[in-house]
Amino acid sequence: MGVAGLPLIREGDDLPGQILARIDLEEGDIICIASSVYSKAKGYTRSLKEITPSGRASSIAGRTGEDPRFIQAVLDASQEVLLEYPFVLSEVSCGHIGVRAGVDQSNVEDDTVILLPPDPMAAAKEVRDRIFELSKKSVRVIITDTCGRSFRRGQTGHAIGWSGMPAIRDFRGDTDLFGHVLKITEEAVVDEIAGMANFVMGESHAGIPAVVIRNCPVWEGHDNLYFRPEEDIVRKMLTGPGSGK
Ligand code: GDP
Ligand code: MN
Ligand code: MN
Repeated sequence: MGVAGLPLIREGDDLPGQILARIDLEEGDIICIASSVYSKAKGYTRSLKEITPSGRASSIAGRTGEDPRFIQAVLDASQEVLLEYPFVLSEVSCGHIGVRAGVDQSNVEDDTVILLPPDPMAAAKEVRDRIFELSKKSVRVIITDTCGRSFRRGQTGHAIGWSGMPAIRDFRGDTDLFGHVLKITEEAVVDEIAGMANFVMGESHAGIPAVVIRNCPVWEGHDNLYFRPEEDIVRKMLTGPGSGK
């Protein structure tokens, strides 16, 4: 269920407190929070007016048709740029790879951009701890962002930070209905949940930046959601020999 009635979030706001004022949480609930509002509450935003674009930002912006100052904010947020055109695709410091480094121009005042939280795992833990402090309820927290995907049209919610659960449910070693041992099946449960939460949030003016998932079972697995660079074949094709980079 979506948490309705939250105001426009500003720097310094106690987001967990504001959520708790509007919904009774239960032990084990999974609270999904849009990264954009977490960032607004923490002040991870930049004013375009204060950004002077570099030559590189201007040249990319010339090709993509975007504001060079916006592209500069994207480059500043990027640890490694994997693609410049037709859109900037880059890795940010936490290991997430996203279009425009996840920098957003929507749901914020003109001339302001929202950055992804620099450490979304710590962000999820902080929200979880704060909810426990205020309510004494032990919940699970996912920080979400809307992202595009390879191979398919349409954006979906992705988990960029999580706390209180493993990212991946590991089926390796388990058997299928016919007794075959599963060798490669790992299920990115945090992304599945973020996808549903993102649907409830919507992308526009619904004003629902937090979603509670109740009665979700627990699962076992691990947190290695991101490929290591050497095992990521798409990344290798974008940046390795023959990629033109
Ligand atoms: P992102 O997916 O993390 O980039 O976030 P979005 O910009 O797509 O916003 C997700 C949801 O949060 C949408 O329902 C927005 O209307 C809502 N939202 C964004 N900012 C605010 C805010 O400051 N206050 C409230 N109440 N809702 C917001
Ligand atoms: Mn976003
Ligand atoms: Mn979104």
